[in-house]
This record gives sequence, structure tokens and C-alpha cells, in this order.
Amino acid sequence: MRTSSLNKSGKKSKVNSEKDEVKRGHRSHSRGRISVVGIGPGALDQMTEKARKEIETADVVVGYKTYVTLIQSIIKPTAEVFSGVMGKEVDRAEIALKKALENKRVAVISSGDPGVYGMAGLVLEVADREKAEVPVEVVPGVTAATAAAAKLGAPLVTDFAVISLSDILTPWSLIEKRLKAAAESDFVIVLYNPQSQGRKEPLAKAYEILLKHRSPNTPVGIVRQAGRKGEETVVSTLKDLLICEVDMATTIIVGNSTTRVVNRRMVTPRGYEL
Ligand code: SAH
Repeated sequence: MRTSSLNKSGKKSKVNSEKDEVKRGHRSHSRGRISVVGIGPGALDQMTEKARKEIETADVVVGYKTYVTLIQSIIKPTAEVFSGVMGKEVDRAEIALKKALENKRVAVISSGDPGVYGMAGLVLEVADREKAEVPVEVVPGVTAATAAAAKLGAPLVTDFAVISLSDILTPWSLIEKRLKAAAESDFVIVLYNPQSQGRKEPLAKAYEILLKHRSPNTPVGIVRQAGRKGEETVVSTLKDLLICEVDMATTIIVGNSTTRVVNRRMVTPRGYEL
């Protein structure tokens, strides 16, 4: 395996129809393609068979380095690997497209599902910007919300809202508006990107908003490193949210007004009579 690092990602004339023919012929024989693959939360056995096959057969694997490390063992030895740092997503999408245009089978990897705060949209947008005739397939994966819910019990059995607390790409005013609307509407709320070392304020602000609309005793589930080394699951309450250990590898699930703790598991009843 070769590893590279991304430091920043009517009537046509005869001549024209011959050119078109070459283009079409080139396209139909081309194997260049991109799969944007969701690898699930971390453990290889939580990856779909389709995702595994896409990674195993890829000539080029592109991804954030933490995720590349998780799937290293199934990358073929001859594959070229571009692993980069967080924040260089556009560079990664561009390199994927460049390699696909060189007739390579490219797997762009995202943790969880690539269509949930992942690389899928960006790859499609970059391909469109470049007017590139490259097939792009999105391969779904188990997203952090459902991976965390499974660890906690069954908190998402009814309507839920998913909100990212990262204000890097979304203005905080919009995040706040969504938090308020979801809290008022009694959705179970899943919080992605809750806080990092340098970004503690959003969770504290979210806590204030949630407490305005929900009982302090609302069950809250906190799952760190689901499916990875160091996995931790805590069932707590809304009032104690800020004293729980939370980092960027954590997903938080805040119950709605009916969510209960049943035998130390978090359950939102669907409404069946028992
Ligand atoms: N595409 C991913 C989400 C990327 S956003 C998915 O579908 O899961 C990154 C956020 O996802 C993290 O801040 C965290 O909130 C959540 N997350 C991703 N993997 C996780 C894991 N293994 N355990 C807990 N939370 C995780």
C-alpha cells in the first residue's frame, strides 16, 4: 500500500462526430469511478458487505486519517492511500475525482454514513463543478445515531431530530433555531459533534435551550467511541449533561417527554399497550 498525505484536495461535422465517438468509446471502456463509502461507527463487523467490497477492490482510498486507520486491514496492498487531516475535505474530494479521471476505482471513506455530515454531498458537488463524467455511487453505512441508540437501548423508536453542534460550516444562530424547534416539538434529539477541546460553548448553550423545554430529569444517553477501542456508554439525565465526559467522538441522545430508563437502558415507548 502506498500512502500519501494531503497537506491542505442539428447537423454535426464529420470531425466533431468522430471526436464524440472517441469520447463515448473512452467513457464506455473507462473503469474510473468513485464510491463514497460509509464505514459504520468503527468496528469492521458493523460495516455492510457492499462497503467492504468497495474498499477491498479500490485502487485508491481517500479519507481522514483516523478512518483510514480503522479500515487499514482491508485495503489492498497495491492501493494508493491519501489520508488527510480534518478540514481538508475539499482537497480530498478533488484528489478522488482526479484519480477517477485517471481510470482508477476510488473509495472515498466517511465514518458512519457518508450522507450524514459526511463526504457524499461534497464529492457530488465537486464532480458537478468539474462537469466530470465519472460515476459516483454513495454506499450507506450505520450512522452514529443508530449505533449509539443500539448501545443505549431503544431511544429512537419514535420521531427524532439530528442536530450537529458544529458551527464551523453552519451559523450558530441557525443551530440554535433548530435546537429550539426540536426541543419545543418534543423530538428525541441526537447531537453530533457535541464539543471538542477548543469548542465547549455550543454544548453549554444547547443545554440551556433544552432545559427551557424539557424536564431536568429527562434521560440522556452519552456514547463515546461506539464500535471502537475505548467505547463508553452512559445513561444520565439532562441536568447532569455538562458533568459527563463528552468529546468529538461522542454522540448524545436526549430523550423526549416519554423516554424512560428501563433496566438501565434508555427506551422511548412507541405507544403499544402493555
Ligand atoms: N458520517 C458520520 C458523522 C460524522 S460527524 C456518521 O454518519 O456517523 C462526526 C460526529 O459523529 C462525531 O462528532 C460524533 O458526534 C459522531 N460519531 C461518529 N462516530 C462515532 C462513534 N464511533 N461513536 C460515537 N459518536 C460518533
